[in-house]
Amino acid sequence: MLKKLGNGLLHLIYPRTCASCGNILLNNEKVLCLSCYAELPRTRFHNNPENEVARLFWGRVLLRNATSFIFFNKDSNYRKILHELKYKDQRQVGHEMGRLFGLELRDTPFSQADMIIPVPLHPAKQRKRGYNQSELIADGVSQVLNIPVRNNLITRKMKTATQTRKNRFDRWLNVKDTFQVQDIASLNNSHILLVDDVITTGATIEACAGSILATCQVSVSVISLAYTKLQ
Ligand SMILES: [Zn+2]
Repeated sequence: MLKKLGNGLLHLIYPRTCASCGNILLNNEKVLCLSCYAELPRTRFHNNPENEVARLFWGRVLLRNATSFIFFNKDSNYRKILHELKYKDQRQVGHEMGRLFGLELRDTPFSQADMIIPVPLHPAKQRKRGYNQSELIADGVSQVLNIPVRNNLITRKMKTATQTRKNRFDRWLNVKDTFQVQDIASLNNSHILLVDDVITTGATIEACAGSILATCQVSVSVISLAYTKLQ
């Protein structure tokens, strides 16, 4: 009761706002207001093995399945969600979006994975940001699907320059050889669900999944919170 009252007072002073439109959230709303939640531009790709995200990797890296939760472009109202997640330390945004994604992934091939692995950030970047946003999404998905998250089995080595304003080939060059499998035995014979925040060219996923597949006897599926089509 006191805790509830305390939270109520806290929200009066620091009102919780919708991660997308910025409107003040009602008590029963979490991260997104009801209307932004209802209008999420969901891809609904998850049960279609030939969906657009999966096709992006054809001929590049052999994935078992791939999908994204929402479409995302420069002009989207939902752009703010990813911004909050990346730059504003809104950890609950990542977790809640992951949870919503997880609810959609039940009864899809993705729910059959043995472990969830967030795509690692470069250590320096993670230190600066304080967290890996893909890890937050992974935790939310994990909570719903009941699949454990395994961090530190894969690491990211040299520094990669920012991906902005690079074409597909530059991006691929930029991330090639950056991922390293730390514990082959723990990965072997499993179905891994690799989690990223946004898929654009797919270069990061291609490099990360490529490194895993080159070293381990595994199958890899990929999910991302958002999918941006290259203009
Ligand atoms: Zn809203």
